Amino acid sequence: MSKIIYADNAATTQMDADAFEAMKPYLFQEYGNASQPYSFARQPKRALREAREIVASCIGALPEEIFFTSGGTESDNWAIKGTAFRTFDRRTTITTVFEHHAVLHACETIERLGFPVTYMWPDSNGYISPETLERYITDETMLVSVMLANNEIGSIQPIKELCNIAHAHGALFHTDAVQAVGHIDIDVNDLGVDMLSASAHKFNGAKGVGFLYIRKGTPIAANMDGGVQEHGLRAGTENVAGIVSMAAALKKNVANLKANQEHISSLEKKLLQSLSEGGISYTRNGGDHTLPGIISLSFNGKDGEAILHRMDLMGICISTGSACDSKNTDISHVLQAIRIPENLAKGTIRISLGKNNTEEDVNAIAVALRKILL
Ligand code: PLP
Repeated sequence: MSKIIYADNAATTQMDADAFEAMKPYLFQEYGNASQPYSFARQPKRALREAREIVASCIGALPEEIFFTSGGTESDNWAIKGTAFRTFDRRTTITTVFEHHAVLHACETIERLGFPVTYMWPDSNGYISPETLERYITDETMLVSVMLANNEIGSIQPIKELCNIAHAHGALFHTDAVQAVGHIDIDVNDLGVDMLSASAHKFNGAKGVGFLYIRKGTPIAANMDGGVQEHGLRAGTENVAGIVSMAAALKKNVANLKANQEHISSLEKKLLQSLSEGGISYTRNGGDHTLPGIISLSFNGKDGEAILHRMDLMGICISTGSACDSKNTDISHVLQAIRIPENLAKGTIRISLGKNNTEEDVNAIAVALRKILL
């Protein structure tokens, strides 16, 4: 197979070799069930304990505040539904119109069950201001859920300020940090959040594994009934291999955070510069405060789907929007949320660079875009 240029790191990332090596023993030799009392279960049990400690230390949490899940979707569903099913004196959730569907569809479910949900709109840069939340929050609000960084346009939200407002009104705060964990510095105590969702495959770990941070004392219903795993709140035999890979990948990314950010930001700059120098005009979505590497570009009057397919023929993977929207040729809910005109929205692509991308990659992307667009 000829070399693929992978520029869709917001959809998923390549697993780190270290994370792959770390998980291997638990798929084959060390296959004991961590819940069993015999000595053959000792190593998987130890691996789970160490992974929990590593993950916790990477986000400033306590080990007992980390609950392993099957990924971002499960963590988001748990935070939204688990809060509704456990909070008895309040019923309203506030979220935003441009969350990932894992949050939006979980909100639709609780709405059908009679829990009201209020949806906030971002500004045209994809930013939810503290003033917006102040307008909607009441003393009836049970939960505020706002994503840390948007997966299509990369805009970063003022989570600390939003969280302070939620707490001042006695509400809990959840953030979907799936795109941010392992890519920017995150400390749950600095942010003040009660719950935070993350997914290993977005930071070079295995697919199908993630975690929900739940601050000690936060009232939340069990996500899965069954055994006593995860303090009885998320039953099911643990995915030890996946969890070990997640801890190894997160540890490595957090240790190299600054270097990765600098590398990715410099590639991003080079790409945009060579597009401009090559005479391509574009609009960058997401404002000034975006995650390094998530580049949402709109080309007036062009067709984003057609660009994606032509890039694919050249061996380059990009996206038009979030991965779950890629079968749907309508304008994504995120682009609708920032209200960009239809002629620009239809000509939008998302290039998402990761730590494994090179200068050669971004040069090839710029050359391909020139061929397609000029
Ligand atoms: N939340 C955000 C912001 C995402 O980008 C994604 C994945 O694209 C998810 C949640 C879902 O995560 P997972 O693929 O681990 O279920």
